[in-house]
Amino acid sequence: MSDNEKPYDMVVFGAGSAGYAAALRGAQLGLSVALVERHKLGGTCLHNGCIPTKAMLHAAELADQARQAGDVGVRSSFQGIDMDALHAYKNSVVSSLCNGLTGLVDARGITYVEGEGRLSSATSVDVGGRRLTGRHVVLATGSVPRTLPGLEIDGRRVISSDHALTLDYVPKSVIVLGGGVIGVEFASAWSSFGARVTVVEALPHLVPAEDESVSSRLEAEFLKRGVTLHLGVPFVGSEYTQDGIRVRLADGKVLEADLLLVAVGRGPVSQGLGFEEAGVVMDKGHVMVDEYMRTSVPTISAVGDLVPTPQLAHVGFAEGILVADRAAGKTAVPIDYDGVPRVTFSRPEIASVGLTEAKAKRAYGAENVDFVVYDLATNARSRTLRTEGHVKVVRRKDGAVVGVHMIGDRISEQIGEAQLIYNWEAWPQDVAGHVHAYPTQGEALGEATLALTGKPLHLRA
Ligand SMILES: Cc1cc2nc3c(=O)[nH]c(=O)nc-3n(C[C@H](O)[C@H](O)[C@H](O)COP(=O)(O)OP(=O)(O)OC[C@H]3O[C@@H](n4cnc5c(N)ncnc54)[C@H](O)[C@@H]3O)c2cc1C
Repeated sequence: MSDNEKPYDMVVFGAGSAGYAAALRGAQLGLSVALVERHKLGGTCLHNGCIPTKAMLHAAELADQARQAGDVGVRSSFQGIDMDALHAYKNSVVSSLCNGLTGLVDARGITYVEGEGRLSSATSVDVGGRRLTGRHVVLATGSVPRTLPGLEIDGRRVISSDHALTLDYVPKSVIVLGGGVIGVEFASAWSSFGARVTVVEALPHLVPAEDESVSSRLEAEFLKRGVTLHLGVPFVGSEYTQDGIRVRLADGKVLEADLLLVAVGRGPVSQGLGFEEAGVVMDKGHVMVDEYMRTSVPTISAVGDLVPTPQLAHVGFAEGILVADRAAGKTAVPIDYDGVPRVTFSRPEIASVGLTEAKAKRAYGAENVDFVVYDLATNARSRTLRTEGHVKVVRRKDGAVVGVHMIGDRISEQIGEAQLIYNWEAWPQDVAGHVHAYPTQGEALGEATLALTGKPLHLRA
């Protein structure tokens, strides 16, 4: 092991969203940084997550538009999916972003080290015969798809999201096990591509972390699109059939399909990487951290999917930045995870921030919480887009907005305003006082807050 390299200020272990954000910000603040990666710069989000799924969902949106264009007077027809062309488009988006990121890492003077890493002490990571030593070590090794006990992901008929992104055909039928964000996005895309889709979820609702009004609306829209739902029913087992897969549910139902997508969550990558040996406290494979992302070892921080915070790329960015700020001696501000925006890019889209109605009632008492649901049926822009949905704004009575929950086609674009409302602790009248452009979906937020101040414009009082 060669350990005659000069020590770095920061050695970042894992170059996904969280790790590369720490590295970029550290270098920006004048720290010397080494960044270790065994696969590809950009990690899950860029190569197996956010970006390829959004490319797939864009293709899905176009497929639906091709089918439905005739309804608005545009002659067109949907003739099928050319998987080679779809992959070429998706891969070109990923590789152009990856090239941009590579250029940025290079331009910031970060030492990028390719190879399998292992934490060798509280201040060092070993990679391919090199020992990289740092004043700070940042663990950012991310996560991989999980499965259920006894359910083996074979990559052919029982697949994970990684396999789903490289399938070279559209399955005729698919069972999606798990109705969280990842399961719902694939269900939506495959349904648009023409597959017969069934979603199985053990909890009573799809996207169970969302406000119940949003989950119920998504379920209604999925049913309209022909997606079959089995909610509140645990998976019991599965077996291969002649040319597909059979799934048994706890209520005795038996389902069959070409493919089973296992989307039951992601688990941390931490086994055998030397974390425990270095004294890092773990829980169920996650590295435990305080609000400053400090582990139990003073020189080691951890960020991203490896720690038990929301598994989102922008959470990883924020945590990486926080750690780099701290390492550079700047003031680091803990993250308010309720203030982190959440978007599901299914059709319809879901965008939310802050507390659900149920959580707000638990936090402040039911008698101290008020809310308005503004139906997009009365929003002119949503009518032209022919989307259904709603915007729900939850507030403390005589207080600030504490949650915004939106569902509808293209509604993800409204999350910016919703996030500012929540994070700046705006009262409904602060928002209602601003003129919203007509006709936009943004007006729905204006209308909902107007209604909360007792002066609805297009909503019946
Ligand atoms: C299908 C899907 C869709 C998603 N869509 C979204 C979305 O739309 N928006 C959103 O915000 N989030 C989305 N996510 C979640 C997002 O991708 C993750 O939250 C994010 O990638 C976590 O970043 P990370 O840096 O913690 O981990 P990762 O991105 O997993 O990066 C960890 C890196 O560490 C490397 N590594 C691990 N072990 C070693 C080792 N021993 N040596 C060297 N390198 C190692 C890995 O190769 C990897 O590159 C999605 C995820 C999936 C799976």
